[in-house]
Amino acid sequence: MSINVTVWNEFRHEIEMENVKAIYPNGMHMTIKSFLEKEEDLIVRTATLDEKDHGLTDDVLNNTDVLLWWGHANHGDVRDDIVEKVCQRVRGGMGIIVLHSGHFSKVFKRLTGSNCGLKWRDIGEKCRVWTVKPNHPIAKGIGDGIELEHEEMYGEPFGIPDPDELVFLSWFKGGEVFRSGCVFNIERGKMFYFQPGHEAYPIYHNEMIQKVITNATKYVAPTCEIIDTNVGDWIKKPLEEI
Ligand code: ZN
Repeated sequence: MSINVTVWNEFRHEIEMENVKAIYPNGMHMTIKSFLEKEEDLIVRTATLDEKDHGLTDDVLNNTDVLLWWGHANHGDVRDDIVEKVCQRVRGGMGIIVLHSGHFSKVFKRLTGSNCGLKWRDIGEKCRVWTVKPNHPIAKGIGDGIELEHEEMYGEPFGIPDPDELVFLSWFKGGEVFRSGCVFNIERGKMFYFQPGHEAYPIYHNEMIQKVITNATKYVAPTCEIIDTNVGDWIKKPLEEI
């Protein structure tokens, strides 16, 4: 069965910053789309902040099984009513993958119920993304982990609730570690947070990173019908005799 995927990107750095544009000339959402759509079972579209309704109209959201989210400097520009619609659909069963600086997005904060703070430093140091759960479907084909020559450092303590599944743990040359691949069950939906992806480095061109994101897209895809969980069912007649 096909999975309908929407890749959402803030898409301002790639327009405003020459060094980022050089890495992602069409925006990182297009790079992510192009490797995801190599998969036969994934139907991929994109949406960006400056489109009408941030590209997330009811029609788009209602036809999205998995949403990917990359945002950074403009989280505050994302409309609260759209944020609530996204969160409501995740609670109802849609999968979501929050990438890198999306840790501070309204969507991630609302779904985790936390402030999601962390330590950070950008000097382009080496990062090792260690696999800590090798039998997890998201880690399939990754082996011991992924080595990134240059990445922004994200360090603990990461202000999130304990994840339901910890798949990756990153180490940085400066000494910090970070829970970099976390799965959360959000009512009927699944959410995966994945740390790599600073805009100034070609992280989403790395084939191993692409493999993780592809695996994760399939893992968080709904396994049950997506419904509105903001309503209760009145059960007038008990199942058993009382
Ligand atoms: Zn960054």
